[in-house]
Amino acid sequence: MIDLHSHTWLSDGSLSPFQLLDRATHHKLQVLAITDHDSVDAYRLLSNSDELRMSDIDLLPGIEISASWDNQEIHILGLMIDTEQTDLNRLVTRQQDRRRERAQAISIKLEKAGITGLMRYVNDLPCKAVGRNHVADFLILAGAANNKQQAFSKFLAKRGRSYVAADWCSVGEAVEIIKAAGGVAVLAHPDRYTLSKPGFKRLIGEFCETGGEGLEVSYSNLNPDTLQNLARLSADLGLWASVGSDFHSPEHNWMELGRIRMLPAICRERAIWHHPRWESFARPVMQEP
Ligand code: AMP
Ligand code: MN
Ligand code: MN
Ligand code: MN
Repeated sequence: MIDLHSHTWLSDGSLSPFQLLDRATHHKLQVLAITDHDSVDAYRLLSNSDELRMSDIDLLPGIEISASWDNQEIHILGLMIDTEQTDLNRLVTRQQDRRRERAQAISIKLEKAGITGLMRYVNDLPCKAVGRNHVADFLILAGAANNKQQAFSKFLAKRGRSYVAADWCSVGEAVEIIKAAGGVAVLAHPDRYTLSKPGFKRLIGEFCETGGEGLEVSYSNLNPDTLQNLARLSADLGLWASVGSDFHSPEHNWMELGRIRMLPAICRERAIWHHPRWESFARPVMQEP
């Protein structure tokens, strides 16, 4: 089994990198990519560890970069990147700073609504990349929301009372930097954006024009029709097809590590494990996992 999209507590996942590795072993994964939001520290922590050496898992370096496009947040995965590359690290620092600034701006809005203590809560977290999911957890703890969905609809989503727009890099910049770091840029969970058909076409056009090379074709909770459509799109555009659960937490059992459908035959020839760079990080994949 191969899973190329997962999170640790260095972004908004709930497990430490070592706990994630344990879970991947338990689920018999061959290859795992940790793709924290705007952070590569999990890979740094694990890559030279005895725990990784003693496991049967090949760890692929990865990231999920937040980008702004047409008033939307688009997520670009960078797989097989050089995590030490300078431009990439500069971008990561900038995005993490912006995440913290946004949390501060949200905190000020929450204080006006009588909800105090967000930054104290955030500063005690192990994360490098603060996100709205952390704020949602805080709002639930503070009794201001009953659940995550409500935290977003009441406070954090675009129409929420404490919404603060994020100032991410552009899609083009994310793609260029992933390429500069030697990696493959993959458009994450393509059906999760609120875009019209022409809007999505424009996004994918721009993504490819700037050097995007991959499409996440199979992921959690994907209906079979959408999977087929994405497989066809990926094949038509000659993109590398990727697979990933987007695992965040054992509590989200609808997004478990490795629990993803097989790539449809139409795009299997261009499965990302056939990419020439794959062999620098992982063993060859002999049969469809
Ligand atoms: P951020 O990177 O801080 O902008 O947070 C983005 C994350 O927030 C997404 O990856 C989702 O997990 C979550 N999210 C965004 N919008 C919503 C929503 N309307 N309801 C629930 N979760 C959301
Ligand atoms: Mn997340
Ligand atoms: Mn995402
Ligand atoms: Mn993700």
